[in-house]
Amino acid sequence: MTLPRGFKASAEREAVRLRKELGLIDSAPLNVRNLADHLGVKIVSAEVLIDRERLEELERLQAYAFSAATFEVAGRHYIVTNPLRPDGRQASDIAHELSHLLLQHDLSEIRELNGTPFRTCQPEEEEQATAFGGTLMLPRPLLLSAARRGMKPADIAASYGVSEEMARYRYNTTGVAKQAYTRSG
Ligand SMILES: [Zn+2]
Repeated sequence: MTLPRGFKASAEREAVRLRKELGLIDSAPLNVRNLADHLGVKIVSAEVLIDRERLEELERLQAYAFSAATFEVAGRHYIVTNPLRPDGRQASDIAHELSHLLLQHDLSEIRELNGTPFRTCQPEEEEQATAFGGTLMLPRPLLLSAARRGMKPADIAASYGVSEEMARYRYNTTGVAKQAYTRSG
């Protein structure tokens, strides 16, 4: 991990702050589409823009090449999602993309894949967006309360509507399982 010093703590604070703005308590599930609305970001399914068949073809050419992407059009931000992904994975992808915006990452770098332009980021920005997105969806108080109820990453993913990958990443990097066990023991 090469996150900047203090990054994790400020991500936790920001997650709690945004949840307050949305009227959610710290341990409540976050509907990432509501957060997008709140931030004035429009979510568009890629199949509105290109044929689903073309998305399926892209998936065959390079599996997992396209998860979600952010575009700025006439001063408004749009996050394009991949409808082929399960809902939890789409939510995690949207959280990742919103994190790029919240962290004010540069949107200018564009790469083409099968004739379709996609934005790419610096590897350290990718890591930050993944860490921040995971924190928005699963902030520490939420994880701790879930861990105290004996929930494992797969249960957390299902209950809070995120990818299992995100749940496992947060569960493992925050050390909540150990903390929950220690305090209840
Ligand atoms: Zn990214």
